[in-house]
Amino acid sequence: MSARILQGKPLAESIKAEVREEVERLSLTGNVVPGLTVVRVGEDPASAVYVGSKVKTSEELGIRSEHAHFPDHTSEEDLLAVVRNLNERDDVDGILVQLPLPKHIDSVRLLEAIDPQKDVDGFHPINVGRLSLGQDALFPCTPAGVIEILKRSDIPIAGKHAVIVGRSNIVGKPMAMLLLRENATVTICHSRTADLPTVTRQGDILVAAIGRAGFIRGDHIREGATVIDVGINNVSDKDLAPELFSPDDIEKRLAAIEKRGFTLVGDVNPKEAVERAAAFTPVPGGVGLLTVAMLMKNTVKAAKMRRGIK
Ligand code: NDP
Repeated sequence: MSARILQGKPLAESIKAEVREEVERLSLTGNVVPGLTVVRVGEDPASAVYVGSKVKTSEELGIRSEHAHFPDHTSEEDLLAVVRNLNERDDVDGILVQLPLPKHIDSVRLLEAIDPQKDVDGFHPINVGRLSLGQDALFPCTPAGVIEILKRSDIPIAGKHAVIVGRSNIVGKPMAMLLLRENATVTICHSRTADLPTVTRQGDILVAAIGRAGFIRGDHIREGATVIDVGINNVSDKDLAPELFSPDDIEKRLAAIEKRGFTLVGDVNPKEAVERAAAFTPVPGGVGLLTVAMLMKNTVKAAKMRRGIK
């Protein structure tokens, strides 16, 4: 078997096109321009790249965006004041605090200070609670993107057994709640799960959100399953390439390690997954591309919800 590859790019593009249309409609009918403010503290290079891509995508879609960047030594009290001010501003619909924050800042306290109506990351306890209660809310972008991949690829969810490896607050747990909401039967696995392959092999849908390159092997996967790889890991060891990559992929991967010092690999072994699964999301080029598109969708949703627009 050779799995159907679920490319993230066309799906992300169609979501962004829908958001662009919705932004135009809001502007024409309600004179509303959705606004997103991204708060960044310090000089973490990866955060700078992520924030840059969020701001650029907002601008492309007609969302008014603002990048509030503060030095590393900014105090927690000052940042709380920034968030409170953004909560008050009517032109700000979405507030996103880019993680990780410098160690002297209590990120839980800061995230809880965000008005839940503007919490476009969906991490506030009010939004987490609403998701758990089966109510509508702002849902976390990465797991919400996974649901979009499944739906837009015509992969049935209702009645299927979905197995998730990982129980983080950012991916694993909200993923479980969103799949439950779509009427899947859900199992959550973690580092203390006994006999992991036996459990994961029950999954019609297997979602890996672990943070370990190529951890999910062929024998973790049910023949014919849909495998969603959320993981993003750097692999710099060329000796691992034959184990991870199929012959048609390996040259490109080795060239990337040679040129940049690493290649991106998910939590699933791609070479073995394409042989066992019926459908598989690639890394790079899969789930990761949906995350920013879903942030844009959440910003428009926040703008509408706050104004009571259906
Ligand atoms: P966390 O480190 O917060 O959570 C990892 C989870 O994996 C934990 O629940 C942990 O279990 C579990 N785990 C670790 N080792 C094992 C093991 N040997 N067997 C079974 N379970 C294990 O990571 P995140 O959820 O934040 O991220 C997961 C991955 O997704 C990372 O690669 C990250 O880079 C990527 N990611 C990608 C995004 C995207 O846009 N595509 C967005 C966010 C994350 P336990 O709880 O017991 O420790």
